[in-house]
Amino acid sequence: MSQPPVRTIAFIGLGHMGLPMARRLLAAGYSVRGFDLSSEARAAITQAGGLACASAAAAAAGANDVITMLPSGATVRAALLGDNGALATLAQNSLVIDMSSSAPTDTVALHDELRGRGYRLVDAPVSGGVRRAIDGTLTIMAGGAAADVVNARPMLETMGTKIFSTGGPGSGHAMKALNNFVSAAGAVAAMEAVIVGCRFGLDAETMVDILNVSTGRNNTTETKMKQFVLSETWGSGFALALMAKDVGIAAGLSRALDLETPMLASAALLWSKAAQVLGSGADHTEIMRFLQSHTRTVDG
Ligand code: NAD
Repeated sequence: MSQPPVRTIAFIGLGHMGLPMARRLLAAGYSVRGFDLSSEARAAITQAGGLACASAAAAAAGANDVITMLPSGATVRAALLGDNGALATLAQNSLVIDMSSSAPTDTVALHDELRGRGYRLVDAPVSGGVRRAIDGTLTIMAGGAAADVVNARPMLETMGTKIFSTGGPGSGHAMKALNNFVSAAGAVAAMEAVIVGCRFGLDAETMVDILNVSTGRNNTTETKMKQFVLSETWGSGFALALMAKDVGIAAGLSRALDLETPMLASAALLWSKAAQVLGSGADHTEIMRFLQSHTRTVDG
């Protein structure tokens, strides 16, 4: 019996998340043509068994589908529609899957623009971080036309184990931003609790042990406080600037819907200030350093 032809995917954005996700596709038998602005990332995709390309247009030439895993919707737009962008060479009716965490209102506009040019767009952002990208156990929230989400599913299943159809275009990106608001607010709550507790005389490690078997536990108390924050290793692999972007997207969505959401507004402000103070290289767990310096300032 003849084997079905190997599908070829142009994978654009091979950073902390994109590279291990592309590796999952390669392991599942897909052919991957990778592009990233960074030469180290291009070397890494070659080493993983993919083909490194010199531009998004080169990656998309001959590909069946395009996957983007880039910092923002603006970079996704540039990689698709900018100079040497993927759409310059991509075959008509191909599927583009944006797995980045982008702003949902921009995604709706991009979806319509791509449809007008004869392409299909699914937004399929992920949750789970680098560890689950490596394992192929990401949570994936997919928005778009139902038939396009069905077409995307076999590819998504190589990268994630919990795959949700969230509704129309942009709905995956809306869900992702709101998830990260909850995650970011929970992180700050856990860190501020530890700052206050330690000032009172509680032991930080004991506090985390208690939170983890009590109602205050959350993803930060379970997977980040001891691992990256109390150890001061700050190595989660998720940048503070990206978390600030996501909370900002959630706050923008709330404003666009004429809603007043005070906790979301204050979380967006806090993360954006921390991103400004700590700079682009900071891991998101380093918001603890910002919170600590802030409490010292208030203290005098
Ligand atoms: P990253 O900064 O490690 O990787 C982004 C990559 O995109 C970089 O290698 C960069 O060189 C490349 N790039 C930027 N602009 C480009 C362009 N125009 N063309 C080609 N390549 C370009 O970021 P990441 O942590 O992998 O995150 C990627 C996306 O996934 C973001 O939207 C982020 O919010 C989201 N996300 C990250 C995590 C995490 O834990 N790191 C978890 C869930 C979702």
